[in-house]
Amino acid sequence: MTQLPKKHLFDIPEGMIYLDGNSLGPLPKGAAERATKTLTQEWGTQLIKAWNTADWMALPQKVGDRIAGFIGAAPGSVATGDTLSIKVYQALAAALKMRPDRRVILSDTGNFPSDLYMAQGLISTIGKDYELRTVAPEDVAEAITEDVAVVMLTEVDYRTGRRHDMTELTARAHQAGAVMIWDLAHSAGALPVDLTGCNAEFAVGCTYKYFNGGPGAPAFIYARPDILLEVEPALSGWLGHDAPFAMEPGYRPAMTTERLRVGTPPIVQLSILDAALDVWDGVSMDEIRGASVALCESFITEVEARCPQLTLASPRDAVVRGSQVSFAFEEGYPVMQALIERGVIGDFRAPNILRFGFTPLYIDQDDVIAAAKVLEDVMTSESWKDPKYQVRSRVT
Ligand SMILES: *Cc1c(COP(=O)(O)O)cnc(C)c1O
Repeated sequence: MTQLPKKHLFDIPEGMIYLDGNSLGPLPKGAAERATKTLTQEWGTQLIKAWNTADWMALPQKVGDRIAGFIGAAPGSVATGDTLSIKVYQALAAALKMRPDRRVILSDTGNFPSDLYMAQGLISTIGKDYELRTVAPEDVAEAITEDVAVVMLTEVDYRTGRRHDMTELTARAHQAGAVMIWDLAHSAGALPVDLTGCNAEFAVGCTYKYFNGGPGAPAFIYARPDILLEVEPALSGWLGHDAPFAMEPGYRPAMTTERLRVGTPPIVQLSILDAALDVWDGVSMDEIRGASVALCESFITEVEARCPQLTLASPRDAVVRGSQVSFAFEEGYPVMQALIERGVIGDFRAPNILRFGFTPLYIDQDDVIAAAKVLEDVMTSESWKDPKYQVRSRVT
């Protein structure tokens, strides 16, 4: 069995307890080294030759295959690049084309706004007779009716950590004849995912959260291998072409998952991500999940005992909770600012959510207790009432 955590593999400032790896993972030491190598030994000395000599052209697929291993997907079924919002758009556009007689995209009101915005933007491009229908998360199963073309859900709710049952909802979608898209933004690298087993047509996710790929790290998209050739790329860029360097005037999609690529891959970010994934060597997702549940349970117990002012906003049952714990408090924003100033980093999500991510690679039980004590002190002393904590930054 591996020793968790692996804090020594990360550059985390002394004295900081980082409970925001669900939003932006910290810097793995090997990633900084790899970035320097990519910049100086590859770009700096080989210049354009590096596409071949440093094998840059193979990097998007190499990293895609590594991600596939974390989400229960077959090698070759995951493409990388762009951002998650773009990948949501691609999956949605392709899924709608697979059900030409239907006009409804079904999602839930807890979904991350960008996923809903991309659906709205796509609808305004393809025609007003399409409809984005959102229902409360607990009502999704019943709302999958026979007019639904696509069910688009995020497994773990970014605010509360509430988790959908991927297998059950995918089966419901298929029973009703709909295509299923899962957003794994808060699942990939957080808990075991079995894409092959759940049989969804598409999945998307990002790599700057639990995979620690750094700000702006590339997203990923999965298409189920047996439907790949039905997938019509809406963003038909040259690197999704079957023969990009033939420079043909007409688009012909690649016969592989590469058809879900668009343009030039972000090589610096991909190399950072490739190195960041090395941190996981020898760790299983089951082991991560076990440790994550233990950390979350302790945090809930400690905070409820110490801070009666806060209300648990995450499910109490670990089975239906992701790798984060959220508490509701009217004045959540200044409370979080006071915590951050004292070295406990979580984040605030409007309107009233204090959000804490638990990442067993670099967080342990001592961190949980220490963080809960700081939170107790901020609440009891009411130090959060200092007007300086009311000032809102652009990013909360
Ligand atoms: C983090 C997150 C995003 C962010 O999308 P980007 O295009 O990478 O900025 C989108 N959807 C969900 C569900 C997320 O959690």
